[in-house]
Amino acid sequence: MPRLKDKIALITGGAAGIGLETARLFLKEGARVALVDLREEDLNKAAESLGDKADVLTVAADVSSPEDAARYVRETVERFGRIDIFFNNAGIEGKVAPLVEQKIEDFDRVIAVNVRGPFLGLQNVLPVMMEQKSGSIINTSSIAGLKGSPDLAPYITSKHAVVGLTRAAAIEAARANVRVNSVHPSPVNTRMMRSLEEGFSPGHGTEVKDQLTTTIPLGRYGESADIANLVLFLASDDSAFITGAQYPVDGGMAAT
Ligand code: NAD
Repeated sequence: MPRLKDKIALITGGAAGIGLETARLFLKEGARVALVDLREEDLNKAAESLGDKADVLTVAADVSSPEDAARYVRETVERFGRIDIFFNNAGIEGKVAPLVEQKIEDFDRVIAVNVRGPFLGLQNVLPVMMEQKSGSIINTSSIAGLKGSPDLAPYITSKHAVVGLTRAAAIEAARANVRVNSVHPSPVNTRMMRSLEEGFSPGHGTEVKDQLTTTIPLGRYGESADIANLVLFLASDDSAFITGAQYPVDGGMAAT
């Protein structure tokens, strides 16, 4: 029996990486999905790779824009009639530099995408789910939302803020049977990690990856599918009594 039969899932950052892999798993489990991402062409490629056109809606939108956030939620409801699952996942890594060398514009951009984005998503999705009296929201934070590390102050700040958003929203939404949890991946093999590895040591990304891997007890990076499996659990009724919680999916890194 598919675990998300007839459910409607909305996924931001859905054209690549963790978002796209989660869309693939959700479709396999019987859901229909709306993918939100910045560029139409990336979304078209992603939708093609997923196959089933009738079950996939794409919306080009910037999650940090209030107008776009209202629009991607509206278009999803217009097409599918409801939203059962919201994977509030789009994010950017920001610049790799010591805190004192970070430019305020760079800080503001990371906060806009990684904090204002999820906040706006919640503001628009919660009324839909609370009216339905059901729904599951999964916010993507990071291991960087549970502990610090050098040279990523804006990103770390933004991902800790996602924990606050998750707790605040979970408490307000619980009375309407809407759950809100966060997932906290350690390094995952996606475009974002390639960019961070290069940011740490331009031209020496492979060495950075090898070094980072030694800090992960299970001895490897995560794959997008590792994260998608956890998101599926939190999206499904198997987690019906879980809300306001933080889930590391990190090969043991948070335990170190
Ligand atoms: P990715 O770069 O492969 O995918 C992110 C997607 O988000 C891209 O398709 C991008 O276009 C989209 N996006 C970026 N800004 C956007 C905006 N303003 N509006 C709409 N879409 C936007 O990265 P990923 O690794 O799949 O990252 C997904 C989430 O996982 C992010 O929130 C990231 O911080 C988090 N995360 C990633 C890792 C990792 O190691 N890859 C670890 C922990 C947490």
